[in-house]
Amino acid sequence: MAKIAINLTTGSLQKEDIIVGIDLGTTNSLIAVIHPETKQPTVLKEIDHTTLVPSIVHFGLNGNLSVGNEAKEFLITDPERTIFSVKRLMGKSYKDVEDASYFGYRIIDDNSEGLVKIAVDDKFYTPIELSAFILKALKQRAEHILKTPVYRAVITVPAYFNDTQRQATRDAGKLAGLDVLRIVNEPTAASLAYGIGLKTGEEKTIAVYDLGGGTFDISILRISNGVFEVLSTNGDTYLGGDDMDKAIVNHWLQTYNIDSDKIDADKAMAQQLRLYAEEAKKALSTNEHFTVAFKNLQLELSRPQFEVLIQPLVDKTLSACQSALKDAALSINEIDAVVMVGGSTRVPLVKKSVGEFFNKAVTDTMNPDEVVALGAAIQADVLAGNNKELLLLDITPLSLGIETMGGLMDVLIPRNSKIPTKAGRQYTTQKDGQGSMRITVYQGERDLVKNNRKLAEFNLTGIPGMPAGLPKVEVNFLVNADGILVVKAKELRSGVEQSIEIKPQYGLTDAEVEERLLDSLQHAKDDMQTRALVEAQTEAQVLIETTNSFLDKNAHLLSNDELTATQKSIADLKDMIASEDKNIIQQGIEMLNNISRPYAERVMDEAIRVAMKGRQI
Ligand code: ADP
Ligand code: MG
Repeated sequence: MAKIAINLTTGSLQKEDIIVGIDLGTTNSLIAVIHPETKQPTVLKEIDHTTLVPSIVHFGLNGNLSVGNEAKEFLITDPERTIFSVKRLMGKSYKDVEDASYFGYRIIDDNSEGLVKIAVDDKFYTPIELSAFILKALKQRAEHILKTPVYRAVITVPAYFNDTQRQATRDAGKLAGLDVLRIVNEPTAASLAYGIGLKTGEEKTIAVYDLGGGTFDISILRISNGVFEVLSTNGDTYLGGDDMDKAIVNHWLQTYNIDSDKIDADKAMAQQLRLYAEEAKKALSTNEHFTVAFKNLQLELSRPQFEVLIQPLVDKTLSACQSALKDAALSINEIDAVVMVGGSTRVPLVKKSVGEFFNKAVTDTMNPDEVVALGAAIQADVLAGNNKELLLLDITPLSLGIETMGGLMDVLIPRNSKIPTKAGRQYTTQKDGQGSMRITVYQGERDLVKNNRKLAEFNLTGIPGMPAGLPKVEVNFLVNADGILVVKAKELRSGVEQSIEIKPQYGLTDAEVEERLLDSLQHAKDDMQTRALVEAQTEAQVLIETTNSFLDKNAHLLSNDELTATQKSIADLKDMIASEDKNIIQQGIEMLNNISRPYAERVMDEAIRVAMKGRQI
């Protein structure tokens, strides 16, 4: 199956061009290519030699947007408008976000199951949009350095990223004007960078230890004939270099009797202290001692003191390694190599402890910040067909998915997935007592199904009467090695099921595939905006319905003022839905939530109190 390149600026099709590899990190992002002359994987550097783009976006008051180092400076002075760690929010709903107070900016808690949004002043952004700003900055950097338009990319994600998170990353790329040819696991990219897994006939089992700014991942990979299989992953999504910085800050607060209330109250001072802590940590990777002036104090830290502070963090990573080995059913001596990834693996205690744990010298000769991006560039080169040694498996040329609420395309199998492949997702009913569900299968890259190609539809019937939202309908897509798509739908509570077989490639020429891809890239921005609007409208509609049904049941428990305010807010939200402006609709949703939340909680507490009355507990 052919892969097609489209020049986004000219709209023309190109056969030969550069594909970039991108490490879209929680803390830092990088972009790399196979150098056109030296043919070596190379991280793109600015004239000042910086390679890392901090994954930070700042929204200035005047509408000025900055990304990277420029944005990082505002962490201190303007925390509410400086968005960091957005990768943690990719593909997540509010209830998935463990610690919203971790973020200095506003994450919208509208109690919905939908994906999180970030509010900056009166505008609402999705993690996808925010990641797209970072990707766009990387793309511009590459275009500036390479002096050629860049529109094709391989982007890396953690091995544990689920379907939704991977799709969100793809969407971010699309929004940034990039054709994302492949999403690659970070540990796979890291091992490619070290040349592991590139030779035919090579069989290896490796551990990739990745300690970044805010996250720790350990992945065990089995590599056989160019195919990378993830045997197990483990880690901690809230453990990394930032925690070392925090430990240093706490140590200094205690040692110098700094009033921690005062620090808490003064965000700028707290940030400054944190930056000094990071400086200390980095310095101690090569030096034995660090000192800096802070206010009227001289802050100090020695390497042995630092090691005592971080020992518990290092121990935690080792017990995760232990679990990963156990899950992969492997013993330490079955691991052929331990690849070190992430800026925090520069800490000498980390290297030493990991080496001792695995009982072998760690693989750390490359720059741990760069290995993932370099590996992504190698994977890009393989996709470009330049590395003939690696077998390229068949892929799906267009995405496959089904229609969901509001006529949106929900992709189950993204384009360029290796086949055979399968994917599944759960859906539910919209109406009480709904006895059937229509499954409509589409192919294409556009966000609204009406712009895609309809492949088939069928009804899953016989769903027993249940309140809306209760049935669990699992839809499974399977593309077998011959490219035949089998779609199955099953209601899990009752067991009723139905399936259908489709030939997605049937009647579609290469030229038509090209046309559809071009079409989707040209409409990417409009499409994403339409999707965001339809999602906001659907969310508002659902909120109005649930609020109305709450009022039907509980109106007598509310004061007149509460009732009037709620009804007014509902009426306002209805008008806002018609406004076709997603930011206005989001504001309306927040307003209605803010009004109803206090009494909804009160009524809930009351219900629990009544239920518990007279019971022995
Ligand atoms: P991520 O993959 O999460 O984006 P990185 O791999 O870029 O993160 O790692 C960033 C972390 O590495 C930060 O916490 C940073 O302070 C830390 N780091 C960078 N250089 C050093 C160093 N020389 N010594 C210790 N830690 C470092
Ligand atoms: Mg990383």
